[in-house]
Amino acid sequence: MSPERVVVTGGAGFLGSHVCEALLDEGAQVVCVDSFRTGSRENVPPGATVVAADVARPLDLLGPVDLVLHLACPASPADYLRMPVDTLRTGGFGTYHVLELARRKDARVVVASTSEVYGDPEEHPQRESYWGHVNPIGPRSVYDEAKRFGEAMTVAFRAEHGVDAGIVRIFNTYGPRMRAHDGRMIPTFVRQALAGEALTVHGDGLQTRSLCYVDDLVRGLLAMARSDHPGPINLGNPAEVTVLDVAHKTIEVTGSSSVVRHVESMQDDPRRRRPDIGLAREVLGWQPTVALEDGLRSFAREFAG
Ligand code: NAD
Repeated sequence: MSPERVVVTGGAGFLGSHVCEALLDEGAQVVCVDSFRTGSRENVPPGATVVAADVARPLDLLGPVDLVLHLACPASPADYLRMPVDTLRTGGFGTYHVLELARRKDARVVVASTSEVYGDPEEHPQRESYWGHVNPIGPRSVYDEAKRFGEAMTVAFRAEHGVDAGIVRIFNTYGPRMRAHDGRMIPTFVRQALAGEALTVHGDGLQTRSLCYVDDLVRGLLAMARSDHPGPINLGNPAEVTVLDVAHKTIEVTGSSSVVRHVESMQDDPRRRRPDIGLAREVLGWQPTVALEDGLRSFAREFAG
């Protein structure tokens, strides 16, 4: 039997590159489709075939495809605020073209959505049945609404074309290959701590996050790929910590003498964020195993080079 052929969109990005690596380890043939908007060629593991393409344009690939993992999309607030229209194009047209590819190839497709579809949640922890609380015209809406549209498109392809499509809602994930200046909390804190600079905490720092180490997340994503569940299924670490706690833990694991500096809150920044992962446990037999201290330590080690 020939090896499974898997298309990973966004395979040159943080999560996508780890997904490509895990698939290659399993013996799959991996095709990484990426526009390199926020990812880089160096991230793509050797052995994967690279196709430079913008998924917001019609996508055609020669040969059979068994599985599509759709991760292409700017994901850091710094990136999507810098390219709002492109983010909407990618989440909207991009998800459409990727679903079209899966339909033509008769492939299972898993679409990466996000906890941001819950917006600033009024229900806690967030279950998949919660519809969310999103400001449709706020600065973050380009990402949140693109992902919500992507989910609706995925459901429509399943209903109208019978495509074997599934949705995962990914909560904050961190790990090696995040860019030092991508604006997300963990790389920012680790960079600041290692440089002995003050760690910048937005607002009072009592807002909470749930942080999943990348290896755990990739395991969950691949479990979803191997199932035929439509989702949406939350994937994230249910251990909830305040941003201030994360700052102090980062200082501790890096042995830094940095202090914390409070800066202005970000508009529409969610106050609380924690996944209910009951469905992932039940359907996929999945749960995260890496504790925040351990994940931070291995990320900081990689970061320090
Ligand atoms: P990333 O920015 O590191 O990777 C995104 C990749 O997509 C990059 O390689 C980029 O070049 C590529 N890309 C962007 N627009 C494209 C386009 N139009 N055509 C082709 N390629 C394009 O981000 P990430 O953290 O790896 O996120 C990957 C996916 O997971 C995204 O869909 C994101 O929304 C989702 N997600 C991530 C997190 C997280 O914490 N990392 C949380 C929730 C959801």
